[in-house]
Amino acid sequence: MDVLSKEQRSYCMSQIRKTDTTPELVVRKIIHNCGYRFRLYRKDLPGCPDIVLPRYKKIIFVHGCWWHRHNCKLGRRVPKTRLDYWLPKLQANKERHKRNLVKLKRQGWKVLTVWECQTKNPEKLISKLEKFLES
Ligand SMILES: [Zn+2]
Repeated sequence: MDVLSKEQRSYCMSQIRKTDTTPELVVRKIIHNCGYRFRLYRKDLPGCPDIVLPRYKKIIFVHGCWWHRHNCKLGRRVPKTRLDYWLPKLQANKERHKRNLVKLKRQGWKVLTVWECQTKNPEKLISKLEKFLES
């Protein structure tokens, strides 16, 4: 049975080439070392969350700053070419994520978003993840 809407499916497809990115691997390693078990890219959930901890009803998204327009140096960088193509696309990413968050919260999931730039400071990241997972 196909439980995904057309929009969700195309999003999952577009996610495939972006799986196993370095920031994601950093986050996964930390959680794993803390003794948590998780699932990856649950396609039956809104937004194909990167990391899912079903036992704890918790979800972690690891976001590339540029792809999701983070308010940081990397995220504020404007594409040099094809602005008319990229800007709406990036803005749509951001809005789709917002809608998915609402859906996930309605289903009772607790959600944490980790930004790519935050994975460059492991100490801070570890305490952020611990706080979220222990809450
Ligand atoms: Zn950032």
